[in-house]
Amino acid sequence: MRCPRCGNTDRQWFYKGSRGWYCRRCIHFGRALLQEESEPVSLQEVQAGAEEYMLKYPLTEAQKRVSEACLAKVRSSDVLLQCVCGAGKTEMVIETIAAMLKERKKVCFAISRRQVVLELSARLSGIFARSRVVPVCQGYTTVTDGDLIVCTTHQLYRYYRAFDLLILDEPDAFPFKGDPVLHGIAASACRGHCIYLTATPDRELERRVSKGTLYRLVLNQRPHGYPLPEPVIRTGFLPLRLVYLLHWINTHRKHPRMIFVPTIRLGKVLHMFLRLLYPVALCTSRTENRDEVIEHFRSDPQGMIVATTVLERGVTIADAQICIYRADHRIFDRAGLIQMAGRAGRTFAAPTGDVLFIQGEYSQTVRECREDIRRANLSCAV
Ligand SMILES: [Zn+2]
Repeated sequence: MRCPRCGNTDRQWFYKGSRGWYCRRCIHFGRALLQEESEPVSLQEVQAGAEEYMLKYPLTEAQKRVSEACLAKVRSSDVLLQCVCGAGKTEMVIETIAAMLKERKKVCFAISRRQVVLELSARLSGIFARSRVVPVCQGYTTVTDGDLIVCTTHQLYRYYRAFDLLILDEPDAFPFKGDPVLHGIAASACRGHCIYLTATPDRELERRVSKGTLYRLVLNQRPHGYPLPEPVIRTGFLPLRLVYLLHWINTHRKHPRMIFVPTIRLGKVLHMFLRLLYPVALCTSRTENRDEVIEHFRSDPQGMIVATTVLERGVTIADAQICIYRADHRIFDRAGLIQMAGRAGRTFAAPTGDVLFIQGEYSQTVRECREDIRRANLSCAV
């Protein structure tokens, strides 16, 4: 027995109800009888002309190479697009998406975070002006079909064997990472091939690359050609950490500054302290008017924000300087640290930036993160 939705084969999860067998591992997506869900969901046909697109900036030579290789490979294999933060990974799959739409194939972009779904679908609507780009996530579930679907990984349960191309953006991000139910659901939503977009592939993706079931394309260069900012690491006990932080804040007072913290609690404390000295905002998963707070920060060229990992991915603030306070906290993994450091120097107008890691004690993870960034910079200098 195999659950057609989440791929579960473990017998202890199967129960027999009055209407037949069902799987309890994915029951929070609604009870589905095993025999009922084996029909692929039927979606509308892609409109003619949906494939027409316009990019604001032309691709760089390096991006073009990756984009072409991606299109060529995805016809016969799953593809891993491994590029540094800010390399323009969305731009590099546009050509592939267009080619699929032209053949009337169904394409889906799936992402862990709701906020990124909304931002990305707005961006894709601008790029594919003639196609119906539909965001599907919490609060946006009345319309679930279009030419191009952008959804949270949670919402993939609606699309049993529906997609010819499934693009999984940052599969190493919570909650997709490490959730076998979501992985199973993603696998059953795709009847064609997958593209994984990430700066930091996890062990499973690495394993598939070495087994030959996943084709890896690497781009370690940002479009503006500048290297990734290498983090400076400072270590010390509390008063010293605050001295480092205040010094950093003052050094960069002419720029927007993002200070990442590991926990909401620490965020509140640090925010309360800094507020005595500077205007500063706080953004955590519990911030109610989060969109407003982010917009306000975005509009202030000398603003400052204390944030938890809720802002770790997907948010681009021009000219942002990045500090990670308590980078040694166990909640931060290497992928997360690299993502946060990658918020710096992302735009043509401000291609450089400063990244500071402040830690309480020596951390191997922090050290490895810096090594990864160095390695990426070296490999693109060749
Ligand atoms: Zn299941």
